[in-house]
Amino acid sequence: MTNGSEPDKKPSINPILGAIVLFALAFMAMPLFLGNQASQTIPYSAFKSQIEDGTIREVTLTQTTIVGVFGGVENDGVTQLRAVLPVQNDPELFPLLADNDVSVTAVNSGDGSIIGALFPWIIVIGFYIWFIRRMRSGMTGLPGGVGDLMSGRFMKPANPAQKITFDDVAGQDTAKREVSELVEFLRDPERFARVGAEVPHGVLLMGPPGTGKTLLARALAGEADVPFFSTTGSEFIEVFVGVGAGRVRKMFEAARKAAPAIIFIDELDSIGRTRGTGVGGGHDEREQTLNQILAELDGFSGKEAVVVLAATNRPDVLDPALLRPGRFDRHVTLNLPDKAARRAILDIHAKGLPIAKNVDLDTIAAGTPGFSGADLKNLLNEAAISAARTSAHEIQPIDIDEARDKVMMGTVRTLAIQPDERHRLAVHEAGHTAVAHFLPEADPLYKVTIIPRGQALGGTHMLPENERQTLPEPYLQGQLTTLLAGRAAERLLMTSVSSGADDDIRRATTIARSMVARWGMDNEIGPIDLRDSDDHPFLGQTIAKPRNFADATAARVDAAVQVLLKAAEAKATEILTHHKDKVLVLATTLEQEETLDANAIRKCLDPDNVTPLHDRSVPI
Ligand code: ADP
Repeated sequence: MTNGSEPDKKPSINPILGAIVLFALAFMAMPLFLGNQASQTIPYSAFKSQIEDGTIREVTLTQTTIVGVFGGVENDGVTQLRAVLPVQNDPELFPLLADNDVSVTAVNSGDGSIIGALFPWIIVIGFYIWFIRRMRSGMTGLPGGVGDLMSGRFMKPANPAQKITFDDVAGQDTAKREVSELVEFLRDPERFARVGAEVPHGVLLMGPPGTGKTLLARALAGEADVPFFSTTGSEFIEVFVGVGAGRVRKMFEAARKAAPAIIFIDELDSIGRTRGTGVGGGHDEREQTLNQILAELDGFSGKEAVVVLAATNRPDVLDPALLRPGRFDRHVTLNLPDKAARRAILDIHAKGLPIAKNVDLDTIAAGTPGFSGADLKNLLNEAAISAARTSAHEIQPIDIDEARDKVMMGTVRTLAIQPDERHRLAVHEAGHTAVAHFLPEADPLYKVTIIPRGQALGGTHMLPENERQTLPEPYLQGQLTTLLAGRAAERLLMTSVSSGADDDIRRATTIARSMVARWGMDNEIGPIDLRDSDDHPFLGQTIAKPRNFADATAARVDAAVQVLLKAAEAKATEILTHHKDKVLVLATTLEQEETLDANAIRKCLDPDNVTPLHDRSVPI
């Protein structure tokens, strides 16, 4: 689902290396300015004889030297002659120059090329000043290295019109409830102090990116109506050791002054990784910054009304010292929104957008499992952009559909697909679609397409009716069968398979492995935890862990996984063979139309029963 392109990286130039190169260049350029390499200094008397000989046509006079353009042929390569003028004025010089028709230019400084001589030094000094200023700005984080640390770096919600409240955060009820306990404290810290109640100072917000951690922190500031000091962990990491720690100190100082106040540190994991693990190269600066944060947290007297909220999506890598009592000891988890929460988030962000009446936000919420709040906001924004592109006044279902596919899978790719590839693609997708249609356990179909998008060449989209918390075995088997049906259709209708099933096989293998090694769905192996990786709660990734079972057991797991996958493929082939004619019709139609919605799919696969599906007839 990623489109694989690396984010643009700025080329980074090591400033010290840059300085060395610039110095070297300046020195190399110096002779150019100081004078021509082909100039030669000769005695004054010799200079005069050259004038007499007529080899000099032009001279430049300064107070102390005479420089002549040399036209002689004897000295190869020499184009300039220079001589030091005698201290006593030579009365013969000017008549001699006049007699020989030499043109005279006089300059009134020492050498005639004094500016030239100074030029490289101007560059060097200029560069030095620039470098020092950069260093200083690194220290304070402000351009030009001037000004107060507080003026730009930490933002305060100055504008009450933009005040964010808990109403702006949809779903996340548990997280809101936990955080809202702090509102009272921030509003009236005295009341708590009087009875000696200690309120937690450090709250760790954990959750996948885009689930509203920042939003929730700002909502707390809005509700309590207190200043909000916000910063990002990575901002503390600087080249110069000690700078980050200094910034932490200043930020806490400012917040204490403004108390009651909130400090928000985003991406805490970028500074708060376990110390001494060498992750990130045993960064001294990071450790100092982290130590400073710990010291500041410990320094709270218990009565100071400053609450520090920190956000992370990697709580697993945080230094345990951060999580000790008195520090970030209250943990609040934000999860990806479920269907109802997605609907609520869509409601919030759809406010003020001109959305057409036939757009059904419920269907969008149903069709976007796995989307975060930020994704949903992005989806509506993309839809608005798409509507604006067609100069429409309202956002139509088609705009939303396009936006959903874009957020989910990336933009449409203009790939040169050969006609035979296109045919294979249609057969492959028709296989998935047909099996999903005929298998009672599979999720209902939403649409099928052979338009390449992101990394995918085509796609069969289904709408899970309910978000499942537990996955029954028949449902999982259905998923395996559906995943492997693309390949089965290729073999059945085109007599060969292709590399197009790469992702299908990967996903099916992951599911089958979990069925065997985690959920005890293989009768012989039984209910035993044999996983060699853990799902990361917030990253949607698996993280390898050391295996603590025998090689022979691992081999049995592999064999059981293989059995499951082969059985699923056989089942898919069976279904497709049984409905071969209909599958062919679907593949041909898909090849022509590129995208088919649920009703069009039913027309191909279930021609005797074509009453439209009302609940899904509106494309989301
Ligand atoms: P995080 O800090 O967890 O990465 P943010 O708080 O920065 O996520 O969320 C980014 C944007 O997504 C928010 O500004 C908001 O517009 C939207 N958003 C995320 N979660 C929600 C939510 N629960 N309710 C409403 N909007 C949300």
